[in-house]
Amino acid sequence: MSNPIQPSGARIWDRCEALARCSEDPGALTRVFLSSEQRKADDLVLAWMREAGMSSRLDAIGNVVGRYEGTAGNAPCLMLGSHLDTVRNAGKYDGMLGVVAAIDCVHVLNGRGARLPFAIEVIGFADEEGVRFGATLLGSRAIAGTFDAGLLDCCDARGLSMREALLRFGLDPAGVGRAARRRADVLAYAELHIEQGPVLEAEGLPVGVVTAINGASRYTVDIDGVAGHAGTVPMNLRQDALAAAAECTLAIELRCGREPDLVGTVGRIEAAPGATNVIPGFARFTIDIRAPRDEQRRAAAAELESTISSICDRRNVAVRMRQTHEGRTAACAGWLQDQIGQAIAAEGLPVRRLPSGAGHDGMAMIDLVDIGMLFVRCERGISHNPLEAITADDAELAARVFLRFVEHFRPAPGRR
Ligand SMILES: [Zn+2]
Repeated sequence: MSNPIQPSGARIWDRCEALARCSEDPGALTRVFLSSEQRKADDLVLAWMREAGMSSRLDAIGNVVGRYEGTAGNAPCLMLGSHLDTVRNAGKYDGMLGVVAAIDCVHVLNGRGARLPFAIEVIGFADEEGVRFGATLLGSRAIAGTFDAGLLDCCDARGLSMREALLRFGLDPAGVGRAARRRADVLAYAELHIEQGPVLEAEGLPVGVVTAINGASRYTVDIDGVAGHAGTVPMNLRQDALAAAAECTLAIELRCGREPDLVGTVGRIEAAPGATNVIPGFARFTIDIRAPRDEQRRAAAAELESTISSICDRRNVAVRMRQTHEGRTAACAGWLQDQIGQAIAAEGLPVRRLPSGAGHDGMAMIDLVDIGMLFVRCERGISHNPLEAITADDAELAARVFLRFVEHFRPAPGRR
């Protein structure tokens, strides 16, 4: 039934469908960390790994780990993977596609009887989205050795702690540290993932090389003006907090639109007192700025801070801007970008490099090892949504590219 010579888009498709049926909600896909649905998905993945010639197991935090030995036993591995947990009411491909496609690559190698000079490990991370306990990247942080044991006391919406949930899942909360891997045992981490954005589709390309997982800076801005009667205060005598916030919003759009790959969003805005016939005396809005380079993001944020301050000065309203989040960029290693690019070119496709605006397991894995990513086109860039869609042809082509990358993988200079 399966073609041992190349990855199979049909098999990848069917397996994404099978994983999508492991859901706490029969009408939608929701699968959170340490749930019985995770157990069902794990059992499927463990079996597919064995069928592909790998040894397979759950590690100390519940990541699914498959290992395909190289020509010599116990060789350091090229680590491939993505996450098996989902957001609520998720799509079928965010995370799962990367796990299933990586298994398919090993399936093909095994079918050919091929062994490489290094081992391959495929990881299905138990938690990336952080839906259940509010903390993200739990599976990859455990492997990278950066899991914060203080998180074991975090509770889910029902008041159950992560510690208790691990016990109920059959894992030892005191032993999570055993999931950590040694730097010497891992040559690189590479992940195949849907783009979750519209760029590849807009350019008619099935795949792309990720340059970096964008860092993000977030702020909350408070503006104090003076509330007043909407009928009696002339326009030139107003201190309208919401009008100031609106001007700031447009300034953010303008500034971020000036540079490629820089994005800025005002996602929330509120005004008080919030009546039709009252000039808003107070406004609060959020800013989310992302870019593939930390300096680029910080420069834009600093410039916007001064722009916002001068807008508010001119409008005679008071402004306070406070930072609520700062996440650094996780740059994909140049040598891995080059090797992934060579695999794309060898399939006769143009090599499009693009940053990732969304977060991924690589953000944690980069503390252990160099990271690389291959993006796959998804329909209209829609993700974290049941409408998330890809084609089996794209899945097959992406898996071929990924397999070619794996087959021709050369460790970074100095690692061999
Ligand atoms: Zn994902």
